[in-house]
Amino acid sequence: MVKVKYCSKCGTQNDDENKYCQQCGYSWDQKKPAIAVVLNFFILWGLGYWYLGIKKVYGLPWYSLAILLIVLWALAVNDPTGLLILLIIVLNFALAYDLYQKATGKSGWVPINR
Ligand SMILES: [Zn+2]
Repeated sequence: MVKVKYCSKCGTQNDDENKYCQQCGYSWDQKKPAIAVVLNFFILWGLGYWYLGIKKVYGLPWYSLAILLIVLWALAVNDPTGLLILLIIVLNFALAYDLYQKATGKSGWVPINR
């Protein structure tokens, strides 16, 4: 007996082995947007992209973002104006928003090469 499952987007019956809905192309392998955002927001920039299977951002490896974050923090601790910390916070939110967009199938604002 063949196992079946139903598409959570269009309701079409699919073979349980299917990775994509044969009717609408919905993917059962979809990554969780919240995990991508949390990884990037609370742990290290770039991790969220890596989690989504995005290897390059702006044509650079995903870990370039992690290096950028470390460099910004290193500069920020010696910055009496606090502007760099503000920049880090703003970029953090902007990257989180981009990741959420990408994880939900939209393009977001950061250019990527898979
Ligand atoms: Zn479907």
